[in-house]
Amino acid sequence: MTLETSIEYVKGIGPEKAKLIKSVLGISTVDDLLNFFPIRYLDKSKVHKIGELSDLSTDVQLKGRITNIQEIQTGKIKRLSARFNDDTGSMDLVWFQYSKWLKEQLPVNQEVYIFGKVNVFNHQFSMPHPEIEAEEKKDTEKRLRPIYPSSEKLTKRGLNQRFFQVVIKNICREIPNLIHENFPDYLMKAFKFLSRQHTYLNIHFPKDMEHFEMANYRLKFEESFFFQLGFALKKLHHKTHTAGNPFPVIGNYFNDFYENHLPFELTGAQKRVLKEIRMDMKRPIQMNRLLQGDVGSGKTMVALLTMLIARDNGFQSCIMAPTEILAQQHYNGIKELLENTEVRVRLLTGSSKKSERNVIHAELESGELSILVGTHAILEDKVKFKNLGLAIIDEQHRFGVAQRAKLWAKNKIPPHILVMTATPIPRTLAMSFYSDLDVSVIDELPVGRKPIITAHRKEKDRAYVYDFCREEIRKGRQIYFVYPLIEESETLDYRNLMEGMENIMDNFSKYNTTMLHGKMKPDEKDAAMTYFASGNAQIMVATTVIEVGVNVPNASVMVIESSERFGLSQLHQLRGRVGRGAEQSYCILMTSDKLSKDSRTRIRTMVESTDGFKISEVDMQLRGPGDILGTQQSGVVDFKKLDLVNDSAIIRTTKNTVEKILEADPLLTRPEHQIIKNYYLRNYKGKNKWSKIS
Ligand code: ADP
Ligand code: MG
Repeated sequence: MTLETSIEYVKGIGPEKAKLIKSVLGISTVDDLLNFFPIRYLDKSKVHKIGELSDLSTDVQLKGRITNIQEIQTGKIKRLSARFNDDTGSMDLVWFQYSKWLKEQLPVNQEVYIFGKVNVFNHQFSMPHPEIEAEEKKDTEKRLRPIYPSSEKLTKRGLNQRFFQVVIKNICREIPNLIHENFPDYLMKAFKFLSRQHTYLNIHFPKDMEHFEMANYRLKFEESFFFQLGFALKKLHHKTHTAGNPFPVIGNYFNDFYENHLPFELTGAQKRVLKEIRMDMKRPIQMNRLLQGDVGSGKTMVALLTMLIARDNGFQSCIMAPTEILAQQHYNGIKELLENTEVRVRLLTGSSKKSERNVIHAELESGELSILVGTHAILEDKVKFKNLGLAIIDEQHRFGVAQRAKLWAKNKIPPHILVMTATPIPRTLAMSFYSDLDVSVIDELPVGRKPIITAHRKEKDRAYVYDFCREEIRKGRQIYFVYPLIEESETLDYRNLMEGMENIMDNFSKYNTTMLHGKMKPDEKDAAMTYFASGNAQIMVATTVIEVGVNVPNASVMVIESSERFGLSQLHQLRGRVGRGAEQSYCILMTSDKLSKDSRTRIRTMVESTDGFKISEVDMQLRGPGDILGTQQSGVVDFKKLDLVNDSAIIRTTKNTVEKILEADPLLTRPEHQIIKNYYLRNYKGKNKWSKIS
C-alpha cells in the first residue's frame, strides 16, 4: 500500500464502496482517506456520574446498574424502558426500536458501562439507545473514538461511522510505511511537534485530548507552513526571474512638482510608503506591490508621485479604476494637480468618444501622453503604449487575475504594478492571500482630520436626525443620504430609494437635492456628481454607487438608511465619503427597531471604531474569510485544518519560520532542508498555480 493506492484496495472497502465514497466525499486514494479528518470524538476514556453531568452536548460514558425493564405502549408505539442507577442518581434508558433478543439480553442488576447522549425532559435525564458493555474497557479501547463527516446517502448504504472507523484503522496500521517526516529535527525540537506518524495516528484515534491537541496543532502548522512556503518561493522566484524596467532617476518632473506644486506636506506614512516604492522600482525587477490605506489616507498623491518617477525615467503610466465615476475623479484630481506642469494626462473610459480615443491611441503610441487614467477600457488590445512602465490599479478587489495579466502584456518588459486598496483586510488574510505581493501600508491620516462621529439612530428619531442635518446645512455643509440597492430585491429597493428621495425633498424643500444611482447613464451620473461637488446641491441621495472613492470635502454628514442591511466593509467605505475636509463630520446609521445579533454587532463596531483594520477583523469573524475576499477567490482560503479567523498566532509563527529558513537557505539546498523541499515538490508543486519553484 502506498499513499497513491486507490481506496478500493483497502481492506473492507472494495470497488463498489470505493465508487460511492469517491462520488459523495471526493476521496479516492489512501492519502485522501488519511486526510479525511474526524469532526469530533467520542470520549470513552472517562466515566461520568449522573449527579455531576454538566455538558450534555457530547456522548458520555456512565457506570452503574440496570433495573426494572419494562415495555410501554403509548397508542400504537411501543418502547422498551429500563432504569439505570449509579451512586449519584438515576435515569431512564429508552429504546424505540428493539428486538426480542435485546429485551432478553439486557444485563440486569450487574455492573455495566453505558455510553450515549443524555437528553433532558421534564428535568429528568434519559438516554436513548445506549451502547452497553459489561466490562471495563482495556486501555487501548479507551481511546477517543472518531466521528467522521458523513451523509445520509452513505449511512443508508452501510457506510456508517463504524465502517469508517474500521477502514481508517486498517490504514493506520500501515502508517509506518506510509507517513514520513517532513520537518527537520531542529524544527521538531523547537516546536515540540509530535512525529508525523503519531500525528496521523492521534488525529484519527487520539490517545487522549492532549494528544489530539498536539496532532491538531501540527496539522495546522504544516498546512500553513507549506502554503506560506509556496508563496515565499514564488516571490523569490519572481524577484530573481521577472525582469522590470529600473527607474534609477528622481528627476525634474518629480522634483519640480514636489517643490512647487505639492499642495500640502506629505504625512510620515506617505513618505515611508513612497520610499518603499522607490526602492522597488530602482531595481531591474518588476515591482508587485499592494498599497493599503484607509479611506482618505491620501493614496492618490502617492500614486501621482510614483507616476512622476516613471516619467522622469522616460516611461508612461496608467491608473485604472473600477468605475467611470472613480476614473473621472482621479482624472480631475490629477489634472488639477498637474495643471502648471508639462506632464500630459488623459482619460479613457467606455464612454470616451471615438474622436477622443483616436487622439489617445495616437498620443500613447507616440509617447506624448505620460499618464492615462481610465477604467477597464485601458485593457483593450487597441490601447497600445510606447513604453508603459507603471500600472496602478485602484480598488483591486474588483479586478481579476486575468485582467492583471493583460496589463502585464502591455510592454515587453512588464510594467511595475502598484495595487491600491482602501479595504483593509485582516492580517491573517493579507499574510496568506496577498503573500505574492509586497505590502505597503499608509497607517496615518493627514493632520487636522477630526475623527468622524458615528451614531446609531432608529426610525422614531428621524425628525431629530433631519433637524440635525438642517443645522449642518445652515453651517454650509453638505449631506449624503445612502440607500441600499441589492440585486435580489432591486425593484423594492428602487422604490424605497424614490420614496426616500421624495421624503427628503419634502423635508428639505428649501434646499437642492440631487440623486445618483446605478441605473443612470454615465453622463447623467456625471451631471449629478458635478452638481453636488460644486455645491449647487446641499443633499445627495444615492445608492452605494458612491461607495468607492467619491471625494467632496465639504460633505460632512453621511446618513445611511437601513444600515443593518449593509456589510461592515461597505459601511466603512461609505463612512469614508465624509470626514475629508477640515470640518467635524458625522455618520448616522439609521436602522429599524429590531435588529439581528449580527446586525447589532456590525452597528456597534461602526459606532465604536474608525480603524479600518479593526473593522475588517470583526467583519471576517462575522462572515468568514471566503466572503471577505469575494467568491472568485474564496478557493484560496479552503484550508482543511487551518482557520484564518482563529489561528492567527500559527499563521504568524509559520510565516516567520518560513522567512527565516529561506533567508538562510533560499534554494533549500542544505541537507537538513531536503525533507521540506522534497515534500513540497511532491505535494504542492504544480497543484497551486501560484507555486512555481525550479
Ligand atoms: P484615498 O486614500 O482614500 O484615495 P485621497 O487620495 O482621495 O485618499 O485623499 C483624501 C484627501 O486628503 C484628498 O482631498 C487629498 O487631497 C487629501 N490629502 C492627501 N494627502 C494629504 C496630506 N498629506 N495632507 C493633507 N491632505 C492630504
Ligand atoms: Mg482613492
